Amino acid sequence: MNLHEYQAKRLFAEHGVPIPNGQVANTPTSVREIARELGGRVVVKAQVHIGGRGKAGGVKLANDPDAAEAWAEKILGMDIKGYTVGKVLIDQQAPGGIDQEIYLAVLIDRAVRRPMIMASAAGGMDIEQVNEETPEKIFRVYVEPSLGVRSYQTTYLAHAMGFPKELWRDFHKIVVGLYECFRKNDASLTEVNPLVITGEGKLMAVDGKVSIDDNALFRQPRLAEMRDLDEEPPSEREARLAGINFIKLDGNIGCMVNGAGLAMTTMDVVKLYHGEPANFLDIGGGARSDQVATAIKLILSDPNVKAVLINIFGGITRGDEVARGILAALEQVKTDIPMVVRLAGTNAHEGLEILRDADMVTAVTLSDAAQKAVALAKGDGQS
Ligand code: GDP
Ligand code: MN
Repeated sequence: MNLHEYQAKRLFAEHGVPIPNGQVANTPTSVREIARELGGRVVVKAQVHIGGRGKAGGVKLANDPDAAEAWAEKILGMDIKGYTVGKVLIDQQAPGGIDQEIYLAVLIDRAVRRPMIMASAAGGMDIEQVNEETPEKIFRVYVEPSLGVRSYQTTYLAHAMGFPKELWRDFHKIVVGLYECFRKNDASLTEVNPLVITGEGKLMAVDGKVSIDDNALFRQPRLAEMRDLDEEPPSEREARLAGINFIKLDGNIGCMVNGAGLAMTTMDVVKLYHGEPANFLDIGGGARSDQVATAIKLILSDPNVKAVLINIFGGITRGDEVARGILAALEQVKTDIPMVVRLAGTNAHEGLEILRDADMVTAVTLSDAAQKAVALAKGDGQS
């Protein structure tokens, strides 16, 4: 789950990371009032769950409350890469302007199985781009969880960033704060881009991003409440509420599978036969027919989908229950999209019996099912 910049920066502040004074608003008049209270020189920032807002025109400097109101007028309701701006953050401008922009983040390096601190003096811009074009500009240290962040590590990074010695202590506190914020909130990412040196020579986090591990939300009720329902794509919300793991991809073969491993395998086999999956979807173990129906509806709501591949290996999940879900879905959504079903394991036979009169292609092996789905997606599979 992603937090908004304003929420992320409040968490940073709880851990001693310096942030500008600021407040969120959703109307131009309240923006004007806030700007006045903050002293007039502010930044108006679109609050959407997507990076690159600056380049998209969603971050604007205003030197008086009138200008702030005018920018808010433009930014509220703006579309940024498919996200509609419903709120803006009004922050005091960095005092004395910005002398330097640094990238700083804490995340998990899965390969090393440790939290990693990443820093780059090429901050402000897209870190993926820096990583591709000038990877030598990114510096990394790994944190041993039982020890925490050590000062030699932050000294190494501060030196690599070219910071003057006077800032090393402050930088150490910021890195420790960001790491603690990461750890205590069960984050998978805490990122500051940019961390700036202000014209007055102080470090300050002017942007913030926090992603929380969804699996930890049960013990982070305060963070769970921060979820902005307006920001979640409707398909993902529906999946989450139904307890289905759904991730939309760019291909045209919709996949419905039980179990994450089998779902990955199914996508691999689709790719092996030169098809492109339209989604990752795991209906989980022991899925009920209503969950199956929701899953099918989710898949069919994607206009790119040209064929659906249903691959169920029944263990706890029962083939007849899945089949009933498929029929229920097809009663609710009429569709011409061809479907290939492979049912194996518990009650597979009963399931296929239930589906006998439905207009579906059946397959016995996954390889056969995937080839049929790929052919149907191309529009040349008759069977
Ligand atoms: P992003 O584009 O979504 O990453 O949004 P950011 O919050 O990082 O803002 C983009 C850019 O706007 C930053 O890299 C800064 O150059 C600039 N910016 C943001 N806040 C301030 C500020 O308080 N003062 C000044 N002078 N520039 C700012
Ligand atoms: Mn940024």
